[in-house]
Amino acid sequence: MRRKLVVANWKMHGNLERNKLLLREVVAGVRGLRNADFAVCVPHPYLFQAQQLLKGTNVAWGAQNVHQSEQGAYTGAVSAWMVADFGCTYAIISHSERRGQFRETNESAAKSMKLAIKAGLTPIYCMGETLDEYEVGVTEAVVASQLDGVLNIVGIKLLSKVVFAYEPVWAIGTGKTATPSQAQAVHEFIRGRVAKHDLEVAANMRILYGGSVKAANAAQLFVMPDIDGGLIGSASLASDEFVAICRAANQAPGSKKRV
Ligand code: PEP
Repeated sequence: MRRKLVVANWKMHGNLERNKLLLREVVAGVRGLRNADFAVCVPHPYLFQAQQLLKGTNVAWGAQNVHQSEQGAYTGAVSAWMVADFGCTYAIISHSERRGQFRETNESAAKSMKLAIKAGLTPIYCMGETLDEYEVGVTEAVVASQLDGVLNIVGIKLLSKVVFAYEPVWAIGTGKTATPSQAQAVHEFIRGRVAKHDLEVAANMRILYGGSVKAANAAQLFVMPDIDGGLIGSASLASDEFVAICRAANQAPGSKKRV
């Protein structure tokens, strides 16, 4: 069975005081939930705080990005090893906000992904179509090119160490969510495409859905057979909402390993 995974993406939000309260409430809210995995991806300056407050709990932590190079003259950038120094489990790679605002590409994603794995992190690789692409019906073609773009560089074996996130850009931060069946169809497509390379990798890979997931819609999404959890933006900033989403994942049936 694939275990559900719920990951918070705080984006550029937080301060020491608010984080402390939020992390404490999340830890208290998910304590004892054993059927799913939970994590928070915080801004880089708060990794130390996350490490201090989360170690020994059932909430892992991670970074929202790592650079595509190991080290060097990249002012303001942060490497995979730097975040690994703070005990991170995860690193989000090529969130659509980074593709759009920082011109990240499939190629830069593949480089960051390789380094993240080398540094002992689990990359969470984001894919998804824009509203225009959705409206002209090219969702599968877009997701296929984002998947193939990294697969061709990283190789199928390393992809077994990656968590995927399908995040339609039109659903991120907009309040519009893909319906469970819309999201399921894309997740199934992604798994099927990986299955053409390796059945076992496809059966084991976790594919999260992201895009305006909240307490009110999480259970319907998580019950779908190819939706292995969620990547949560806005709703992760309110502990009651985030904890309710984690509880929905904990209660959802684990997905059978099938392709
Ligand atoms: C995200 O940024 O990854 C995200 C899914 O955001 P939101 O939940 O706010 O749509």
